[in-house]
Amino acid sequence: MTNFVDQDFKHNFHTHTFRCKHAKGDVADYCARAVELGMETLGFSDHSAMPDDRWIRVRMHYEQLDDYIDAIDRAREDFPQLNIKKGMECEYVPRLHHYYEDELLGERAFDYLIGAAHFFTDDNGKWSGTYGGTTSAKTLADFARYSVEMIETRLFDFIAHPDLFGNCYPTWDANTEACARDIAQAAAENGVGLEINALGLRKIAGRPTAFPQYPWEPFWTVVAEAGAPVLVNSDAHRPDDLQGRAGDAMNLAHRQGIKLMSPDLIGRRQAA
Ligand SMILES: [Zn+2]
Ligand SMILES: [Zn+2]
Repeated sequence: MTNFVDQDFKHNFHTHTFRCKHAKGDVADYCARAVELGMETLGFSDHSAMPDDRWIRVRMHYEQLDDYIDAIDRAREDFPQLNIKKGMECEYVPRLHHYYEDELLGERAFDYLIGAAHFFTDDNGKWSGTYGGTTSAKTLADFARYSVEMIETRLFDFIAHPDLFGNCYPTWDANTEACARDIAQAAAENGVGLEINALGLRKIAGRPTAFPQYPWEPFWTVVAEAGAPVLVNSDAHRPDDLQGRAGDAMNLAHRQGIKLMSPDLIGRRQAA
């Protein structure tokens, strides 16, 4: 059986910068570290600026967006040996569909966007958070519905930590199984990737008995059965974490019989 080590991980599409207020380092710091580690692809995906500056405690201000883009453009000149991609990690706010499609992927020429459910809506459109959220079956169904809606927009090349509900639901049961199946089937049907998140593994390593609990292995059994595309990302919030526990995340995929998708499938918009 293949045993992957962190150094086998060469393509990371989930990287933050200081602008989100809970990460360290700027674009160039991550690029320098990626070169030291012999990595090939580095995709930046800081928590997205929002035109109305909502959820501002964990993201850049809208007026910082130009600076973020400039930092990535500069790095492309300074680190020609790296394949650098321009992205952001977004919640999907339906009312702002035009922002993702026309401004970010259009005018501003982002290579890709990541969909994420740090916040999600109930069926009345009311937002709640996955961190510290309640643990009811209803919440889980909301998480699944929101995730499927996000996948079906096809605005997002992949979904970050689609099993993040491990943060707010304690046991694997028929409800988690149904949630996983809905997400995995939508991803398979729409060709949208699902991310095995190595930051989750780093958190588990630091606090083995507590929440958060993702990646959640039975989720990936369901994904394997559905045949959805899967990738591993670091979700780096510090340059030193660019490969941290990525080997373990690749081994999780391998254990589940999942062959990882080609990195060439991410950020195709500009190439197309
Ligand atoms: Zn973050
Ligand atoms: Zn992230």
